[in-house]
Amino acid sequence: MKKDIINKAIELARETMNKNLGGPFGAAVIDREGNLLSLASNTVLGDHDPTAHAEINAIREAAKIKGTHDLSGCIIYATGYPCPMCLSAIIWANIKEVVYGCRPEDADEIGFRDDFIYHFIKKDMSDETVLKFKEEGRQDCLLLFREYAEQERKIY
Ligand SMILES: [Zn+2]
Repeated sequence: MKKDIINKAIELARETMNKNLGGPFGAAVIDREGNLLSLASNTVLGDHDPTAHAEINAIREAAKIKGTHDLSGCIIYATGYPCPMCLSAIIWANIKEVVYGCRPEDADEIGFRDDFIYHFIKKDMSDETVLKFKEEGRQDCLLLFREYAEQERKIY
């Protein structure tokens, strides 16, 4: 079962990779009953979208199908260990289990370097050669936050 799903993800990733739509990455989301909700691949190049990683595409599709942002109980399969962006998206989606094929060092070996992002996060995000932060307009932004809090909306 697990191998079937990974194989489907590999197949789709190979297809889009050979069409030059993205890297060699595929992903799938399975619901708690074991149904395949979505199957997706990396389409960063084809979509001109730096966030179009396989896991993100698979989460978007699965959430759309389920009609909710909450994918609790679902499992995500990925041909490679998820990058920091995808790990965050998986956590935001309330997915609690990841099944992956290749390890981070395998992706590193073919030139996909997620390492520097992990290092950046570990070093308190203080490396300005990676990213600079600047606080601006906090008071106005706080008004928006307060409006939200006053409406007693659901926190997700
Ligand atoms: Zn990713």
